[in-house]
Amino acid sequence: MVVKSEDGRELRSFKFKDEAEGQEVRAVERRILLETLANQLPSDAIRFSSKVAKIEKNENGETSLQLLDGTQILAKVLIGCDGIRSPIAKWMGFTEPRYVGHCAFRGLGFYPNGQPFDPKVNYIYGKGLRAGYVPVSPTKVYWFICFNSSSPGQKIIDPSVLKNEAQKMIKGWPSELLNIIDLTPDDTIIRTPLVDRWLWPVVSPSGSTSGVVLVGDAWHPMTPNLGQGACCALEDAVVLSRKLADALEVGPASLDDALSSYCKERWTRVFPLTIRANLVGALLQWENPVVCTVRNSIIIPKLVKLGPLLEHTNFNCEPLERRGNRFPIN
Ligand SMILES: Cc1cc2nc3c(=O)[nH]c(=O)nc-3n(C[C@H](O)[C@H](O)[C@H](O)COP(=O)(O)OP(=O)(O)OC[C@H]3O[C@@H](n4cnc5c(N)ncnc54)[C@H](O)[C@@H]3O)c2cc1C
Repeated sequence: MVVKSEDGRELRSFKFKDEAEGQEVRAVERRILLETLANQLPSDAIRFSSKVAKIEKNENGETSLQLLDGTQILAKVLIGCDGIRSPIAKWMGFTEPRYVGHCAFRGLGFYPNGQPFDPKVNYIYGKGLRAGYVPVSPTKVYWFICFNSSSPGQKIIDPSVLKNEAQKMIKGWPSELLNIIDLTPDDTIIRTPLVDRWLWPVVSPSGSTSGVVLVGDAWHPMTPNLGQGACCALEDAVVLSRKLADALEVGPASLDDALSSYCKERWTRVFPLTIRANLVGALLQWENPVVCTVRNSIIIPKLVKLGPLLEHTNFNCEPLERRGNRFPIN
């Protein structure tokens, strides 16, 4: 991992094997992750382009989902993993996630003849502005720019405008980052306002209610400052699958207990992480030039330790064992 200032000066370089044995960063392209997960399922298990428009409970306690195309689905158990704007979370009484005052540009630089970078995560810190890049495959390099903005701003759909804005924002920054953005196909560039939702005990609704449960961003949207949102969604999925499989061996009556037990177990992981990610973001987005000088000349070069910094990633939800029977519910 390498940290630089906006003028390209190296502030610190970390080696995982020296500073945090057993730690690593694995950069995975979203498309590859989704395809890998989907390939583990029977081909008829996923129905695409099925946007949920309405949710209701019927008199038998089943959840009825109405899709945008009019299709109706009855579910004994509904797992809402429908992202930060989850209609299922809304139906369960959750508020909209809160904008935290920063936005991010993201994109994937494409090098048809092979990308030239070492397998390192690179961060560049400016004032109220930071960026990073990391190779994700032999031909692709992921990059991001995170910037302060008092409002989420207008939604821009023209990708060439996004690219222009991103390049303007980091004019004069290290050329390798500008080159990666230059080599980014327009259609991979997005701008996202960063949001989160803190799951305060007592005040927040439960992540499950009779036969319905939330997973990932739908339940606990967090800012990306620790790079843990998707990791936590995957951990949720492993823990919930195990609880559901156990419950089905006992009988359908124990399903709701399994959902509550999942929420209880996962809350202790996701609530502190959401807060920590928010605070880390606030620190990294400092604008004050004096504070940034102290950060670049003392905090990063002398005080930061990789092990404690990444301690939150030392979480083991154990591998998910394959069970004989497929779930007898639909
Ligand atoms: C700038 C940025 C950088 C990030 N970097 C990292 C990182 O380095 N590491 C990390 O672990 N995480 C990172 N994250 C977070 C990560 O992207 C999310 O936490 C993760 O995608 C959450 O997965 P999910 O499956 O819960 O939701 P999503 O990935 O949002 O998936 C939700 C799904 O629900 C579908 N959906 C939405 N509405 C409906 C509806 N009405 N009906 C049916 N389906 C619907 C969507 O089409 C989508 O397929 C980052 C996020 C941002 C913004």
